[in-house]
Formats: sequence, C-alpha cells, structure tokens
Amino acid sequence: MAIVIEKGQGIHSELDERIGLECPYCGMYAHMSPQSVPDAASLLRDKPNHVGLVYKCDACDAPVFLRFTVREYKDDRVELYRNFIELERPKERFAFSYLPKHTEVLFREALACYSGNNFNAFASMCRRASISAFDALGEGGKLRAFEEVMVAQDIAGIDDESFAPIKSVLFGSGQHEDLPLLNRAQAGILLEVLKDMFYQCFVRHGKLTRAIKVRRFFVSDNDDNVASA
Ligand SMILES: [Zn+2]
Repeated sequence: MAIVIEKGQGIHSELDERIGLECPYCGMYAHMSPQSVPDAASLLRDKPNHVGLVYKCDACDAPVFLRFTVREYKDDRVELYRNFIELERPKERFAFSYLPKHTEVLFREALACYSGNNFNAFASMCRRASISAFDALGEGGKLRAFEEVMVAQDIAGIDDESFAPIKSVLFGSGQHEDLPLLNRAQAGILLEVLKDMFYQCFVRHGKLTRAIKVRRFFVSDNDDNVASA
C-alpha cells in the first residue's frame, strides 16, 4: 500500500496505516506522525525519484527524517513506496567498559558503521574487533570464542548456509579483501552474534567477578562486626 501526497490534501496512507519504528533519540518503539511534508505541487513539477519527509516521534516529539522512493506521479498526486530509509538510526548500545581497550575502540566504530547502514564497513570492523579480542583472550582465546559462537548459532537456530558468511567474517584467516559482502539481514545477525560473543568472553566474566568481590567485601565486613560485638 502506498503513501500518498496529494495536492490540497496533504499526506495520507491508503490503508490509514501508521509508521512505527525505534526512535533514534529516545530509543522507544513509537508511532511517527508526519510533521514536515513536501509540497505536492513542487514534487509534481520537479518529479524527483526520492522524497524526504520529517516525522515526529509520538513518544519524545523529536524529528525523525525518512526518505521514500516515489512509485508514481499522477495528475495531482504522488505515490510513495511504503519502504523507507531511516537517515538517522538508533545507536547500538553495549557494556563497552568490560571490553579490552583496543577491542572497545574498534567495536564502537563497528557499531557506528552499523547505525549508519554501512554494513560492509561494519563487517570489516567486526573482523578487526574480533582479532583484537582473540589477542586479549590469549592462548586458546580464538577457539573459546569460536565455541561460544557455535552455541549462539545453535540457540538461535540459524542454518549453516546462512551462518557461513558470519563465521567467515569473525574467524576467517584470509585477507580483508576476501571478506564476504553482507546485506542488511546478515549484518544484523553478525551484530547480535558478536555482541553475544563479547558478552560471553568479557562482560559475563567482568560482571560476575565484580559482583562476587562485592559480596565478599560485605561478608568480611559483617564478620568484623560480629567479631567486635
Ligand atoms: Zn522518540
């Protein structure tokens, strides 16, 4: 179903559907209401292939920029395809402080590539981030990380064929230029798998040791209190 911008009528959707997406500002999954819509007359005159609209997030009122492809120009109406490009994507979050410094720097840049829809730049940075993580884990680190990723594949129920490019990015030993080209869907899987791998290898260990340290601290504190009572 198309989104229509009509002379004198403004914007409407053929099925009265509303756009919902994850807001790049507040992070909520929210409805978006059209806020700034190009003038139908000027579109009909210039006939651009793409049209930019500003929506307003219903949760936080921030402006959200979307770009649509034009499906058809008619007498006094412009029909847009429903699919759109988000010009600002929500930032991916991660407990970066648990990562080794070098890995953190590279993984932050990987996530910035992903948020910018640059999925192959993202894949290249994932390769660099994972190599730096294997180095930080020391001997046997790559094998351990590989095992964690195999478990993740099993839990997520991803078949071997779909998973092959992900494995090749993370564990392949070839040159950078041999990396497979990833589409949006594959990059999304890579993102979740690498987050899980880093979680298992670094975050889990860091959180657990920190939590146990805190418990021990309070236990010894209490023992002191009992002893002095
Ligand atoms: Zn918002």
